[in-house]
Amino acid sequence: MSHRIIILPETLTNKIAAGEVVERPSSVIKELIENSLDAGATDISVEISAGGRRLIRVTDNGHGMSRDDALLSLERHATSKIRNEDDLDGILTLGFRGEALPSIASVSRFSLATREPGATEGTEIIVEGGRVRDVRACGMASGTVISVEQIFFNIPARLKFMKSAETEAGHVADVVSQMAVSRPAVAFSCISDGRDVLKVQRSDLQRRLSQVVGKDTSAQLYEVCHDDDNLSVSGFVSGPSLVRSGLQTMYTYINGRYVRDKVVQHAIMHAYRGVIDRGRYPVVALFIELPAGDVDVNVHPTKHEVRFRRQSVVHDFIKGAVEELLSRSPWLINRAASQTSQTSQTSQTSLSYRERIAAAAQASLDMPRRESHLSPASPTLPSAASDRAEPTASLSPATDKGARAAEPDTHFTSGNPDSGEAGYFSSLGIIGQFHSEYILCQSASELVIIDQHAASERVAYQRLKEQFFAGGVESQRSLFPDTVELSFSEVAAASRFHNELAAIGFELEPFGGNTLIISAVPRLISEKNVFNLVRDILADLVRLGTSAAFQNIIDALLSRIACHSVVRGVHTLENRQIGELLKNMDETDFAASCPHGRPVSHVIKLQELEKIFKRT
Ligand code: ADP
Ligand code: MG
Repeated sequence: MSHRIIILPETLTNKIAAGEVVERPSSVIKELIENSLDAGATDISVEISAGGRRLIRVTDNGHGMSRDDALLSLERHATSKIRNEDDLDGILTLGFRGEALPSIASVSRFSLATREPGATEGTEIIVEGGRVRDVRACGMASGTVISVEQIFFNIPARLKFMKSAETEAGHVADVVSQMAVSRPAVAFSCISDGRDVLKVQRSDLQRRLSQVVGKDTSAQLYEVCHDDDNLSVSGFVSGPSLVRSGLQTMYTYINGRYVRDKVVQHAIMHAYRGVIDRGRYPVVALFIELPAGDVDVNVHPTKHEVRFRRQSVVHDFIKGAVEELLSRSPWLINRAASQTSQTSQTSQTSLSYRERIAAAAQASLDMPRRESHLSPASPTLPSAASDRAEPTASLSPATDKGARAAEPDTHFTSGNPDSGEAGYFSSLGIIGQFHSEYILCQSASELVIIDQHAASERVAYQRLKEQFFAGGVESQRSLFPDTVELSFSEVAAASRFHNELAAIGFELEPFGGNTLIISAVPRLISEKNVFNLVRDILADLVRLGTSAAFQNIIDALLSRIACHSVVRGVHTLENRQIGELLKNMDETDFAASCPHGRPVSHVIKLQELEKIFKRT
């Protein structure tokens, strides 16, 4: 009888488990910091070199381990945090699975040095690829030091998936930031290749946030505090004008554990629905506290997701807490206090909370605008009156409307005297604007409605593309360079893609920690949009590994720049500006694929109107 089945040796099962827990250096850091926090540490320092590939070291001043415990801690399923099945229903510690240390030790050259406060000496254990090589006594301060060298040295496949040192270091700093926000009373430091990346003393949440997300950002956060018997939501959230294009600055915690939970995220986003644009995320640091028995953290080895016993109750509670804050619109009070506000506060009371917030967001955008993205060419102003002539007989049969708008109407001869030279759009007669968002024009046989935002964006996109392929997007140096606060991975992306960013008009220089100096931006960009654009572009780049991949998203990046170069939403235009836009539209290749895929113009034929009014 042959045996097909064997029980795998422990070194191998640990390596398999490591596949789930140890994805990259930052996941090792997460596990080690969790252990330090569980050990009651009040001071945790993280040190990495080469993005954590060469070395990861976490030092804490927690309660340490005895020699026996230290040896046991490296065994699979060895934990001091739960004892029996019942304990699983009320987990108060960050760890409980007893997997991290053996997993990490199985895929690296690992050492653990630890001393309990009362002990005369510490214990040092050296492990290589899961095999204990040495156990010895050592002198050290009380606490624990864990060093992980040459991670994945014995798993070449994993090694291949590691990103550049800068990228990995960015992820590490982001994880330390997430942890640092969760425990303001604990001091944290993070050193990468000998450089201080983050250094925060013990403090309170507000100060901690200002150190981690930056002073400017944290100054725009507002306190949330909601309590009932078994549930509380507290922390800080941003108003509608402080948004990001990624989830990175949504710091959410359940019973002190950082989570990226869908229910929590959905609840927050639901509160902001209609207040911020789709694809934008608020900056939040929210702490949800509930009885340990009401939440199951044993859903995934990384414990980033949880399961709530009363999911909809928790969801609605979080949503309610954020909505309550948003409905008070505290940023309006700040604004009123700091300047004579243009916001129509008189009408605030009659509006719904979403309308009020949207109005506030709009008000914050209503600053002096530059229209310089439209070239100052001499305006072509077809007269609306001259176009009201009798329709010519050249009504073309109904065609696909999108294509119709994209192709110049060669049948039509405008009443505009200049029209011999003019393209399709400039030959149209301007009727005016509808809702300050749409331009209405006419030809003899058509009513043409143009989405002014989409059209301006399309024109800008075309220009950027031409500039890019002619050697680089024109950039404009700032006289007084601004700084922008980002996530650490975004800062890493800025340096990794330095040359590529220069080709699309940006010069971004490191300013220490999570801050960059914006020295130059594409010339088309209006000043007030610079911050959001830089954030968007870097968030896009964080997702990329290499410069080769950059070429694949160049269209998307140029389209982002174009999108930020134009005024969004309601915006009154003078006829002269409309004329310029129409002229620019004629110079734009609308047949090229539009990056947003949105229609720019829509044609309603006279025939269609006549049908509607039953004239035919
Ligand atoms: P878990 O955290 O799930 O219990 P780990 O493998 O991460 O599993 O750690 C195993 C055990 O080692 C922990 O339960 C804890 O008792 C001990 N330990 C790990 N890190 C530390 C530390 N920094 N200080 C004190 N004890 C630690
Ligand atoms: Mg642990």
